[in-house]
Amino acid sequence: MGADILVVAEHKDGKVKKTACELLTVARTLAAARGGKVLAAVLGPGAGQAAAELGAWGAETVLVGEAGFEAYASLKWTRAICEAAAARRPAAILMSVSSLSRDLAGRVAARAQAALASDCTALSAEGDGFKIVRPMLAGRALVTAVHAGPGPLLATLRPNVFTAEKPAAPAAGTVEALACADDPRDQRVVVKSFAAGGGTRPELTEAAVVVSGGRSLGSADAFKVIYDLADALGAAAGASRAAVDAGYAPHSMQVGQTGKTVSPVLYIACGISGAIQHLAGMRTSKYIVAINTDPNAPIFKLADYGIVGDLFEVVPALTEEVNKAKA
Ligand SMILES: Cc1cc2nc3c(=O)[nH]c(=O)nc-3n(C[C@H](O)[C@H](O)[C@H](O)COP(=O)(O)OP(=O)(O)OC[C@H]3O[C@@H](n4cnc5c(N)ncnc54)[C@H](O)[C@@H]3O)c2cc1C
Repeated sequence: MGADILVVAEHKDGKVKKTACELLTVARTLAAARGGKVLAAVLGPGAGQAAAELGAWGAETVLVGEAGFEAYASLKWTRAICEAAAARRPAAILMSVSSLSRDLAGRVAARAQAALASDCTALSAEGDGFKIVRPMLAGRALVTAVHAGPGPLLATLRPNVFTAEKPAAPAAGTVEALACADDPRDQRVVVKSFAAGGGTRPELTEAAVVVSGGRSLGSADAFKVIYDLADALGAAAGASRAAVDAGYAPHSMQVGQTGKTVSPVLYIACGISGAIQHLAGMRTSKYIVAINTDPNAPIFKLADYGIVGDLFEVVPALTEEVNKAKA
């Protein structure tokens, strides 16, 4: 195990995702503490274009796998990252918590014989190893663990928890090809299509602002008040499980223990009671605003700002104010 930190950088059509910038910021701190370098691996169509930006975020070497790489292919991507890890022997491999890493991280950890720490909310260098913090039991407890090898640590980091900061001076960003020959056995898992969940809205798990609605919305049509505020704020739209189970919103919008984990700067919960399973998916949001008719709703215990009122009055009023401020 060396001292370098390898970041698996996600991008969309060649544009580096904010989550990759967060990883690179953490990687710089870890690499500096261990006297290693920051490496980035970027794969799929557009990877070459993304590579140029990764140097500005502190990647000293960017391993680019573009030719022969599809938008996502579980087994080939796993092999490519494992081959890179075997050659470079990083102390840690970092990925963001995302749909992609949910599939990829476990595969890479198993093949690379890495210890997998998923959904970390803190990560620092500790002696010759690393200290990680991750929520457990639906967020009711935080576990602190120390990894000291053997083998690398593979950590997935929760989006929006770590602040992305560019280094004072860009790193070299030296591009190297990440070659990985085709293997017919890769065809055992084929990704047939991608379905974007949020339409034109930002991806729920990466959004800086999330507006969510609960059972109290009462119908799919009524969710329009949630979408209007989300669109005014450039936010993603979420829902409680009760709203999803009732058919008011698709499952891709569900926030919580059995849905998505979000960690935006601002989370606006509209008509959501604050059940522990919902809180599990949003409690690390920086600022939580709750709108609820019941002053004793549990969500108010967690909220930074609470509005006791009818969401059908409060939410349109907020939307109007936001739109006025933008005009
Ligand atoms: C194993 C398991 C997993 C689960 N996973 C999840 C999960 O991932 N995500 C999740 O969300 N839940 C999950 N749940 C369900 C969870 O326990 C709650 O039932 C659910 O979160 C409740 O959703 P809600 O807050 O929308 O509805 P309710 O609990 O019915 O709350 C509705 C709230 O709206 C308020 N209200 C009513 N009318 C208005 C109005 N006009 N204006 C403002 N406020 C109003 C009420 O005062 C109330 O507080 C899970 C449960 C189990 C057992």
